[in-house]
Amino acid sequence: MLNGSELGTFRKQLLGWFRQFQRDLPWRRTKDPYRIWLSEIMLQQTRVSAAIPYYQRFLRSFPDVHTLAAAPQEEVLRLWSGLGYYGRARNLQKAAQEIVAKHGGEFPTCLNDALALPGIGNYTAAAILSIAFGAKHAVLDGNAARVLARLGAIRGDIRESQRWQELQKTADHLLQPKSPGDWNQAMMELGATLCIPKSPLCPLCPVAQFCQGRRLGIAESLPEKRKKRATVEVTLAAAVFADGKGQTLLLPPPKKTKERASADHVPTLVSKMWHFPTLSVSGKPSGKLSAFLRKLMPGVQSRNWQLVPAGKVRHAVTYRAIILLSFLIQVKKLPRITGAKQVPLGDISGLPISNLTRKVAHAALAAAASAPAKQ
Ligand code: SF4
Repeated sequence: MLNGSELGTFRKQLLGWFRQFQRDLPWRRTKDPYRIWLSEIMLQQTRVSAAIPYYQRFLRSFPDVHTLAAAPQEEVLRLWSGLGYYGRARNLQKAAQEIVAKHGGEFPTCLNDALALPGIGNYTAAAILSIAFGAKHAVLDGNAARVLARLGAIRGDIRESQRWQELQKTADHLLQPKSPGDWNQAMMELGATLCIPKSPLCPLCPVAQFCQGRRLGIAESLPEKRKKRATVEVTLAAAVFADGKGQTLLLPPPKKTKERASADHVPTLVSKMWHFPTLSVSGKPSGKLSAFLRKLMPGVQSRNWQLVPAGKVRHAVTYRAIILLSFLIQVKKLPRITGAKQVPLGDISGLPISNLTRKVAHAALAAAASAPAKQ
């Protein structure tokens, strides 16, 4: 652990580097806690370059916490559509509603109040409060943790609870108390731009002289790899109806039920957004899909339906490797399914949908273009 003049030099060099070389990012041009919060939530599972257009588009529709709190949830999800991990958007809006109801529309400055908001954990609270209000809370995210593990040559799985707590203590100790917001961003910026996972750019590093990992020649192998959970393959089949006018059917997000609470619940795997009728299959997928559709639409005459294979879409969700087989069903008139909505197959993004559903629609459109239309 660095102390005294060494700690002073470490802080000065890292902050000086950050102030000179930081990337110009839209959320760095503001101290508005709402905008900083939005960026932090978007960046949780999304790369900076992918998040920027979403961030700008979202703010055009919801420029402040009040507009977000009052918006229809479907509109919030639609603007999030494509970013994935939609629970983030739902929690963001719930938290905005709490901020309006309990905090007069002002983001809370107290750590415990911030932590009580949906979707805000230790990292996010520390980032928002330090950057927006200069509060002295050190952040620890994946980037900062990698930097600290290398600086201290820390071995083992850094995500193990005790090791993570030790890293948090180190982050708290290193925090520059006069500029906690810049300091936190500097630690994360170092991890994002120089102390990168593979082949860290040590010759450019402003704090290389303090780095034990580099001194021992082990920086690149730190942090040590986590033990990976074995991948489970899941095969799903989706039915894409198309009528003569190019309309299709999408089912609504699954309601909260005991069944949905299971991580293997099919619509949850597909996403919690609007989706094509989908089920998990093995063996003959088209036969199972037909039986599933008959159950979904009792009484509907389905004997003449032809299920045309429309391609495979691959998707990974945590440890699951999903293969989604899509089937095009061309019909004169779309069947009625309770709760389903009719939308143009060529433009299903009027409803909140996931990337996976978008890919299935593209595959079905391509199949429809090469298949004769239903008479
Ligand atoms: S010297 Fe290299 S490994 Fe050490 S903190 Fe700097 S970039 Fe990371």
